[in-house]
Amino acid sequence: MVLGIVFLLGMTLGGDPAPPTVLPAARPIYPPHLPVFDVRARIDPGKRLVEVSENIIWTHPGGPAVDRVIIQAHAAFVLPPSEEGGMAKTLEMLRLDPRDALGVKRPALEFQKVALVDGDQAVEQPARLGGPTGTDLEVSLPNPVGPGGKVTIRLVFQVRLDEKQGRWGLWNGVVNLMQWLPIPAFYGAETGWQPSPFLPWHQPFLNEAGHYRAAIEIPDGWELASSGAKVAEVPAGPGWREISLEAWGVRDFSLAASSKYIVATTKAPVAGRDPVVVRVLALEHHKQHAEKIAALAADAITTYSSWMGAYPWPELTIAETYFGWNGNEGGSIIMIDERVFTLPALADGFIEYLIIHETCHQWWYNAVGTDGYREPFMDEGLATALSHRLLDKRRGRNHAMLNFPTGLGWLPNIPRDSYRNRGWSGLAHAGFDSPVQRGMQEHGNLALLFGTAYDKSSKVFDILAERMGEAAFLEFLRSVQRDYRYRILRAADFERELAKFTGQDWTGFFDRWWRGPGQCDWALDRVETIDGKGPRSLAWSRRRQEQTRIRVVISRTGPTDEATSLGIRLPGQMGYPIRIPVATGLEWHGDNPPAEVTPLPDGKVQVMVTLPVEPESVMVDPDMVLPDPRLHNNHTDVAPNFRPTFLYTTADENDLTTANDRWNVIVGPWLYGATYSNPWYTRTTMLGARAGAYRSQEFQGGIYGAYRTDYRDVVIGVDGTFEHWPDSAWQTGFNAEQRVYEFEAGQSSPVRATLFTRNITFANTSIYQLPFDFTELYTTYSGNFLPYSSQLPQGAVRYSNTTTAGWHIRRNRQTPYWDPSMGWQFDAVMEGGGADLDVYSGMFRTWAQGVLVKHLPDVSEILPEGRVREAVRPFALALAETKLAMRAYGGTALPGRGAFFPLGGGESFRGFDLAQRQGSTVWVGSVEWRIPLVRHLETDFFDHIAGLRTIQMALFYDVGDALAAGHSAGPVAHALGAGVRFDAVLLSFVERATFRFDFAQTLGQETGPQFWFGINQPF
Ligand SMILES: [Zn+2]
Repeated sequence: MVLGIVFLLGMTLGGDPAPPTVLPAARPIYPPHLPVFDVRARIDPGKRLVEVSENIIWTHPGGPAVDRVIIQAHAAFVLPPSEEGGMAKTLEMLRLDPRDALGVKRPALEFQKVALVDGDQAVEQPARLGGPTGTDLEVSLPNPVGPGGKVTIRLVFQVRLDEKQGRWGLWNGVVNLMQWLPIPAFYGAETGWQPSPFLPWHQPFLNEAGHYRAAIEIPDGWELASSGAKVAEVPAGPGWREISLEAWGVRDFSLAASSKYIVATTKAPVAGRDPVVVRVLALEHHKQHAEKIAALAADAITTYSSWMGAYPWPELTIAETYFGWNGNEGGSIIMIDERVFTLPALADGFIEYLIIHETCHQWWYNAVGTDGYREPFMDEGLATALSHRLLDKRRGRNHAMLNFPTGLGWLPNIPRDSYRNRGWSGLAHAGFDSPVQRGMQEHGNLALLFGTAYDKSSKVFDILAERMGEAAFLEFLRSVQRDYRYRILRAADFERELAKFTGQDWTGFFDRWWRGPGQCDWALDRVETIDGKGPRSLAWSRRRQEQTRIRVVISRTGPTDEATSLGIRLPGQMGYPIRIPVATGLEWHGDNPPAEVTPLPDGKVQVMVTLPVEPESVMVDPDMVLPDPRLHNNHTDVAPNFRPTFLYTTADENDLTTANDRWNVIVGPWLYGATYSNPWYTRTTMLGARAGAYRSQEFQGGIYGAYRTDYRDVVIGVDGTFEHWPDSAWQTGFNAEQRVYEFEAGQSSPVRATLFTRNITFANTSIYQLPFDFTELYTTYSGNFLPYSSQLPQGAVRYSNTTTAGWHIRRNRQTPYWDPSMGWQFDAVMEGGGADLDVYSGMFRTWAQGVLVKHLPDVSEILPEGRVREAVRPFALALAETKLAMRAYGGTALPGRGAFFPLGGGESFRGFDLAQRQGSTVWVGSVEWRIPLVRHLETDFFDHIAGLRTIQMALFYDVGDALAAGHSAGPVAHALGAGVRFDAVLLSFVERATFRFDFAQTLGQETGPQFWFGINQPF
């Protein structure tokens, strides 16, 4: 309904004339109501301030008269403290330290004057910000203004450039100003004013296109990146210059500036118009990337122009900024995060995808506007679908996105299909799949938005393209670009235009795929060769060089029924060139090759086809167009993706680096980082060899032999985890291990075996961490792997084995996971069973641990303003950069004589090893002061594959004791220690971890110092 209006407006207000039959004309055809802006700004990096005066001419587009104008001032947003935790989690997902983006307490944008201009008169208005996020500036009008009427508003304001990463700020010498300028909210005849609340975790923008004329003052030596194009440059007083810019019909007016920018320029040829100038402004040491990126964007502009209509502006600017996000589209400008520029050359495939995705937004967001707040799937789905389509053509389907140098090809790669499917497939299996047509508030977080509004939505556009044929689909997009340029396209418009274009009603289709659950799992039930001896399974039969008749039975599950096709590949062919239509209830006959499709009971479909030779492979939905959560049942290729490696780590066992349509088998030398400890099963850092099997969202497991650093022994073992079993939010697994060699005195050849099931309530985005929140049940048999204790309390008895069943709960509110700067974590365990002590007896064991991490407060704030406060402030601020981490741990067990708990260990009392005190009751308290020595390092290794970002020192104090049979093992033990912590990144922003080296000395005991190595903070 809302969209009907926009359409009507186009007609009544004399929008586009009769549609051209070929590409839209390069000549812009603007709707008459677009707002006109006149901006004067001085960007003063020295003062960290932008001083702005902005004149806005707003034209009533039609509909009821208005008595107020709503201006969206998103830069006036301040994150409420209650939302900091959620936002920190979003930043964690982007692998950004929340400290680098959060913590601003007052709005960056402050209005000094809001006035209504009438001729020469400017009448000042009260500047009141309201709306759900405090970003709507309401300007009352003295007289109502009706259709075609104009209002001129003058805003004088300042934008403070905080030292923060994000949409607006100044970080490391780069000014970033995106969606920073106040603009009128969208006004529709039926909706009235429709301002977009500001949600910082995506692009909640619904902007009318606008005409901007700007004069921007910057210091000499600074380079400016902007929407539009430069028209003049003049000196503006000593040390300053003024750059005049014009941007016609763009969605927003964004800027970036730095004195460290170099400029790479190229031109994109576009049929029917002058070449488009592509300018990339990058930090000087990223020149190579800048040239590469310019070429990628230019190439994308040429192709998209031929697909969807000519790029309408003279220039496209791409600026490197410290944005936190990978990339973000603007009005004829794209901001790319500095971390993309520091990706190694081997990740060029990812950069290529990102640049062509962001460039595509110039068609969907900038030229044709969408409602990023209420319908984020429109522009994101189209940009994702079309950028993958472009890559399909350029690189072939499913190309490997990482390009390793010779000799490193064994490292885990990223198949593009896995990159594209992973987000949605993860949601679908975890039970979070949802309709595509939703607003940002309904999605609620970035993981759901990415999986649904990007990945799944893009697939729906692909289904459309498949149904229509590529040529017709692109012609349709051209017609939408022609009719909706400089306007706003809503989902309802898209549906209506499609019906008009095709002469066919698509309501059912969009009910299924946009508004409905939209999930469809086609599977091959049987594929058999039929000859004189009867049917034989295809996969196991010998290839025959004679005519063959095959029978395929296909079934479909999932809430959505959608037609697809069956693809067949004969020996020597590529892909699946033979196609046969398949749909529930379909009856179909074909001649080339001879084929019959017949419906079977239960909605299954049978395909009989006669082929010249036995096929090599058969696949249902061979282009993987449908959102199908189980791709491995679509084809007959049973051979797994086999990958030997020289270093097997968790990076080899995840959805991103494995084929997601089949089993993956990985074999090689193995490094296992004990990044967490389970209550029932501590797995320490292990070095050895492993053979593993992985199937996306279903199973991971393997067999291994390895040396364990904590226990100083060698074990052989087997492990396995079934994902989403018995239900979507569950994980069920097993593990068994036997010691085969020990370097310390202990029980010989102990065995342990465990079975667990875990209910996950808050998943982790990291590829190597446990979920944040879960509850689990487990049963375990364990021999005693602990070394013989040197300080066993009087009366304590060493157990030889335990058999228990238990319960464990974890709630983890620490962020970010690689080095928490805030939050808490709580673990509790209870278990019961039997233990073999001197006699076999029942046993009960419980333990709990609480951890709290906090930055120290800025103590200068308690001092009154004045000289003392100013003098103290630098020290107070340095102190506020340090963190205090506290841990309280306690465990107790029955019978009281059983030495069930070790006191020492790298994640426990660090002054002892496992062999020192053991007891039935153990407690440990720890206080750790984490002091950053160097922050924001840009040190990278191996061509940026890995990098070091922060070096911290930790000073700690551990206190604890072990008791058994009512006796303490000794006096309460105190240990002091120090450590270094290296915060490292993998592939710039793909993964982060902290490596720690700790040293601790127990006081007053005759034990030597202990050295520990671990991954991430010890608690
Ligand atoms: Zn996008």
